[in-house]
Amino acid sequence: MVWWVKFQLPKGNSVDPTCIFCKIIDGNSPSTIVHQDEHAVAFLDIHPAAPVHILIVPRQHIESINALETEHKSLIGHMFTVARDLAKEKGVSESGYRLIINNGSDARQAVFHLHLHLLGGQQMRYPMG
Ligand code: 5GP
Ligand code: ZN
Repeated sequence: MVWWVKFQLPKGNSVDPTCIFCKIIDGNSPSTIVHQDEHAVAFLDIHPAAPVHILIVPRQHIESINALETEHKSLIGHMFTVARDLAKEKGVSESGYRLIINNGSDARQAVFHLHLHLLGGQQMRYPMG
C-alpha cells in the first residue's frame, strides 16, 4: 500500500487501490461473488483447485495473518462462519472440506490481502505440506 493512502484512511477502513482483491470487492475487477455482507466478501477462485474453491476475504485490506490486530478478532471469527455457511450451501458440509490460509513466502501466499480458501467436493491430498 502506498503510504499516503494508508495515512489518509481511517483505521479499519483501509483499501489498497493496487490490490486485486480490493478491486474485486469494489466491483472494479470481475469475479463471481457468492456472498457479501458488511464485513466480508466471498468469490470463486479464478484457478480452482477443487470442484468447490471459494475465497473468503475481509472488506478491509489486511495483508496477512501477520498483520492481524486484536481488533480483528471478531472479523476472523466471522470469516469462519461465512465459510461454514458456504460449505453447507455448496453441499460439502457433510462430505468434508478444507480451510486454508497461506501466510508468507514459504506458504506461497500470492495475494497479500488476507483470504480464507474453502476447498471441497473431492478427496483432499494428504499429508499436507
Ligand atoms: P494465495 O496463494 O495467496 O493463498 O492464493 C491466492 C488465490 O487467489 C489463488 O488461488 C489464485 O488463483 C486466486 N486469484 C488470484 N487472482 C485472482 C483474481 O483476479 N480473481 C480471482 N477470482 N481469484 C484470483
Ligand atoms: Zn486488498
